[in-house]
Amino acid sequence: MKQKIRYCKRCLLPSTKPYIKFDEEGVCQACLAHEEKHAALGKIDWGKRKRQFYDLVESAKAQNAPWYDALVPVSGGKDSITQVHRLLGHGLRILAVNVDYGIKTEIGKENLACIPEMGANLIIYRPQLDLHIKLIKLGLEEYGDPDLLSHTLLHAAPLHIALRFQIPLVMLGENSAEEYSGETGEASAPGMTREWFTRYAANAGRDARYIAKKHDIPFEQLRLYDFPDEIVDSSTHTYFMSHFFQWDSEKHLEIAKSYGFKTLDQPGEGTYRNFVGIDEKINRIHQYLKVLKFGYGRATDHACEDIRNGRLTREQAKELVREHDLKPLSVDYTSSFAEFVGYSEDEIRELLEKFRDQNIWGKKEDGSWIIANHLEEATEMVRS
Ligand SMILES: [Zn+2]
Repeated sequence: MKQKIRYCKRCLLPSTKPYIKFDEEGVCQACLAHEEKHAALGKIDWGKRKRQFYDLVESAKAQNAPWYDALVPVSGGKDSITQVHRLLGHGLRILAVNVDYGIKTEIGKENLACIPEMGANLIIYRPQLDLHIKLIKLGLEEYGDPDLLSHTLLHAAPLHIALRFQIPLVMLGENSAEEYSGETGEASAPGMTREWFTRYAANAGRDARYIAKKHDIPFEQLRLYDFPDEIVDSSTHTYFMSHFFQWDSEKHLEIAKSYGFKTLDQPGEGTYRNFVGIDEKINRIHQYLKVLKFGYGRATDHACEDIRNGRLTREQAKELVREHDLKPLSVDYTSSFAEFVGYSEDEIRELLEKFRDQNIWGKKEDGSWIIANHLEEATEMVRS
């Protein structure tokens, strides 16, 4: 008997998602946090926050730093282009830092090229590949997440660079802590801390220190993968842009397009959106592992956001999730990944299959995999 997946009564998050909690009405924590956040956002004096942002900009300039006044970590996605956009027009010397940790797509390269054209300097940081590929393999084989340490590198490396260049202001993107807790008050204002990093940049606390110790890798080799604690006593300060400006994906898309940001002609594999996660390929493997382990993927994430923001009804969202969410990984991704890390394609398929949860997946007569109760309401399990 297969495990029946229960779904949130408002969005479509499944009971298999790690750490998810439902209230007695069957509504998930993310929906409740969103509601709370929405109410809190309405009470925020955004004019005041904007003035605080301009004060920060002025004080960064007044420090006469030797090289640059502000640093922005960028992926080349719509949000990071918007972050650079907000800093333009104040006479700042801006350094954008892109961490190229995986397999960049052509459209990703083109979108990243917008950044210097906007008026920011761009450094692309590429880690040495023998060690980095070892970490990608280790993440995948031991923890089912090829991006395990890529994700910490992505957050940490720009901070190390800011410290070396003595850059006073680091403008980060969205504070993911707010996304889950609904916390939007003044208390959420400070930027990245060691606690935040371990919780939101590292997967389940498995940061570079943990991996170094557990797998006997000299920590000195992983320094750029780890939060720089010396930032606390330095003249470099980090802030989340979402504290000063209301985070609005649609608006960011418009702003990014005005600088030449391109979207895909077709939705990306595994979702119905054509403008997110389009710059890099390994992320698709990361997302597909979620499908195997927990029975949901990227389309569910996007649909849940769109339900909460009133852009889709739950029924419309279900249709889109049915169409895109469980799509098998295509050869385009497996072959690129195989070539990058040095596996054969069969090895990859075999490795990935080890993570398929057979409590939720079953086989059809033709041998293909299916989640028998996908998106069905398990009403008998919830008392009304
Ligand atoms: Zn929900």
